[in-house]
Amino acid sequence: PQSVFHFGGDASHSDPRQKDKKVTGGKGANLAVMAEIGLPVPPGFTIATEECLTYLAGGADFPQALRDQVAEALRHVERTVGKVLGDPEDPLLVSVRSGAAISMPGMMDTVLNLGLNDATVEGLARTSGDPRFAWDSYRRFVQMYSDVVLGVDHGLFEEALEIVKEDTGFYSDTELEAEHWQKLVAEYKAIVERELGQPFPQDAQAQLWGAIAAVFDSWDTERAKIYRRLNDIPHDMGTAVNVQAMVFGNMGDTSATGVAFTRDPSTGEKAHYGEWLVNAQGEDVVAGIRTPQYLTRARREAAGADKPSMEEAMPEAYAELARVFDLLEAHYSDMQDIEFTVQQGKLWLLQTRNGKRTAKAALKMAVDMVGEGLIDRKQAILRIDPMALDQLLHPTLDPQAKRDVMTTGLPASPGAASGKIVLDAETAESWAQRGEKVILVRVETSPEDIHGMHAATGILTARGGMTSHAAVVARGMGRPCVSGASQVSISRDARTLRIGDRELKEGDVITLDGSNGQVMAGEVATIEPELAGDFGTLMEWADEHRRMRIRTNAETEQDCRMARQFGAEGIGLCRTEHMFFDAGRISAVRQMILAEDEKGRRAALDKLLPEQRADFHAIFTVMVGLPCTIRLLDPPLHEFLPNEEAEFAELADATGLGVDHLRRRAAELHEFNPMLGHRGCRLGITYPEIYEMQARAIFEAVCDVAKESGEAPLPEIMIPLVATRRELEILRALVDRVAEEVFERAGRRVDYLVGTMIELPRAALMAGQIAQHADFFSFGTNDLTQTTLGVSRDDSARFLGPYVDRGIFPRDPFVSLDIEGVGELVSMAVERGRETRGDIKLGICGEHGGDPASIGFCEEVGLDYVSASPYRVPIARLAAAQASL
Ligand code: ADP
Ligand code: MG
Ligand code: MG
Repeated sequence: PQSVFHFGGDASHSDPRQKDKKVTGGKGANLAVMAEIGLPVPPGFTIATEECLTYLAGGADFPQALRDQVAEALRHVERTVGKVLGDPEDPLLVSVRSGAAISMPGMMDTVLNLGLNDATVEGLARTSGDPRFAWDSYRRFVQMYSDVVLGVDHGLFEEALEIVKEDTGFYSDTELEAEHWQKLVAEYKAIVERELGQPFPQDAQAQLWGAIAAVFDSWDTERAKIYRRLNDIPHDMGTAVNVQAMVFGNMGDTSATGVAFTRDPSTGEKAHYGEWLVNAQGEDVVAGIRTPQYLTRARREAAGADKPSMEEAMPEAYAELARVFDLLEAHYSDMQDIEFTVQQGKLWLLQTRNGKRTAKAALKMAVDMVGEGLIDRKQAILRIDPMALDQLLHPTLDPQAKRDVMTTGLPASPGAASGKIVLDAETAESWAQRGEKVILVRVETSPEDIHGMHAATGILTARGGMTSHAAVVARGMGRPCVSGASQVSISRDARTLRIGDRELKEGDVITLDGSNGQVMAGEVATIEPELAGDFGTLMEWADEHRRMRIRTNAETEQDCRMARQFGAEGIGLCRTEHMFFDAGRISAVRQMILAEDEKGRRAALDKLLPEQRADFHAIFTVMVGLPCTIRLLDPPLHEFLPNEEAEFAELADATGLGVDHLRRRAAELHEFNPMLGHRGCRLGITYPEIYEMQARAIFEAVCDVAKESGEAPLPEIMIPLVATRRELEILRALVDRVAEEVFERAGRRVDYLVGTMIELPRAALMAGQIAQHADFFSFGTNDLTQTTLGVSRDDSARFLGPYVDRGIFPRDPFVSLDIEGVGELVSMAVERGRETRGDIKLGICGEHGGDPASIGFCEEVGLDYVSASPYRVPIARLAAAQASL
């Protein structure tokens, strides 16, 4: 089958596989599309992703069939351009670019100007009439190829360049002349020979195949693997290779290179946005070597910059570019991120893709585009990554708070972050692992820093523009980022930092405001997010399209209020034991646990009753009219036991019992495997007075709220860790009896439900029987995952990482439901439960209720609701809508 596809020139794009990103990668597929719709794209060809997998599996060898197809495609490019690769008179130069189906910064860097050697550089100088340009291109090529393909440390080349600059007294690369570049090339080649013991490859074909191999190999590098793991990208997709005729942005002052967005990727504003550099090539803009200029006049003026914008300096090329913006947006119905080059006044397009954007920009663009008729509401809903909403739901800096601004860089990724300064990715990761909030501070970031950026709450760089690596990756991750803060200078050896005239050291706390670029000393106060505007609009659309209800996991009045603001339609899980840990009552809880007999327990429970009633009263008042699932006491009692000397002494005082006696009781309660021990409904069976007290507190509170507000919430009393029908039968009778007692005394009745958690495999298997006594099931998928997999949630960190890396689990099953295994038990329980009771209410209350992939599964099996922590409620609303579409 065909695995090399050419584009540009008179190429026909009849094979639909060429526009399939899985086959030709995102870059290759979009190059083909752009060429097809008639945009100026330098001709080239794409080697399909499956060739990468074949190459890696086959021991790094190229099949003859591939060699033939590449030769043929290259001839097509040569014919189109009218130049031949390696021709010393008039050489064709190409770029070799990686390009997976999903864009991955972990992959190989692009090699530009391939095909240059000691002979062809002369030819290029002659045909272009510009020796400076020819030698500049050659030195770029030797450096890039040596770094990217041959693995020579690029620092060596930079040092050599610095020396030439010092010798000549020039400051900027653009000032250097042909002879300087020529000298530098000789130096570069000497470096390569010294480092590798071999000369720099002169043969153009050898250069080409070396670069192709390097692209394929880069699929399997450590940094690419880390990136895939962090972003849930499968390891078996492979990367495509794009080989493309060069166009030159470094042919003097009528040439340029740049990157552009059709809309502002930070705010979503419908205004062209981007950066460009005159007389420059490819990576110069993003690499932060020279500070790029603004694309539009409006931006330049707003920033008060004096170097002209592209709109001003190259009005014709800019007008052409603006026309392309509209064309591409209309074609893709989405904001595009575009790479372009202007060669002697002529515009060329080198890449387009759906642009990365902040969550705020994503919402604004989606809502605007519906208004513009570019997309419909359903597309708008599907276009927002639910997890990205997380960025918007968190606090921003309080505008009233005092700010000790040390310097201001570029507002590269919005949001506020405070944390301790760390100077490298490893430190960021290790400090974050011990629970510290850290800000990663770097001169600039590279793909090797990704794990550190992930661990950090914010990122600060001294160099690089709005489209630098740090900015792009931070926006994608939702990390606040300030880039290009040029007053920041880092001393890596001393592990200190200077900002202007201030000295700081690693570990000092700073605050970043990614929305305006400010870098502040210390921690700055924050305020809650704004939930109206585009966010509100999109959420409304989502609510119109979803079937499932969204509840929250909450056990305090504040959490309930916040969750309701976020749109929660009830409580899916209120864990009553959290109330037991409160300082004021832990002593009574301990008395209850350590009591010798029922009488002692009842005495302690009498003290707890009014406290629990007050808790429920507060929660129910907020949740009037909504269902509230309250789980009765679940954890093993030993979790409440005193540990320290002082705690035993205090308890002895309170109870009048001796410390020794208390210690003996505590030792008696010790369990070897408490998570499989005396917990959940087993407590209710053995100590019914505990569940009686809790049921009484709930019903009394509901009756009180009903009396005060004229309306009650709907309590759904949930019995945890049920494995058998009989457990639920006994405990349901207990709850019903207490309800009757309370209703009688209060002189009013309220509706309530009694149900159970399905969190043991036996419960899922026996769901048909258990449903005889249950008004509802709530899937407790945390425990259900733990008990189904036989994996302890608290002890799994050591092996789950490697398990995910080796593809044993596609994702951490405690984060995203193991749909195949645990999901099978859930579907079985749903089916069997419904067979017994057609109207049984079904929901999920594990961590998975806030995970979009798991929510998709819940929709599939037809649950009535999902429950998520308050901050995840909007994520769940959107994910549920997407699942319904
Ligand atoms: P990345 O995926 O890192 O963006 P690219 O393959 O897109 O890597 O290339 C990096 C830079 O090199 C881009 O700025 C691109 O515009 C430039 N570039 C790539 N191929 C060519 C070419 N054939 N002619 C001119 N510039 C090129
Ligand atoms: Mg690119
Ligand atoms: Mg549980």
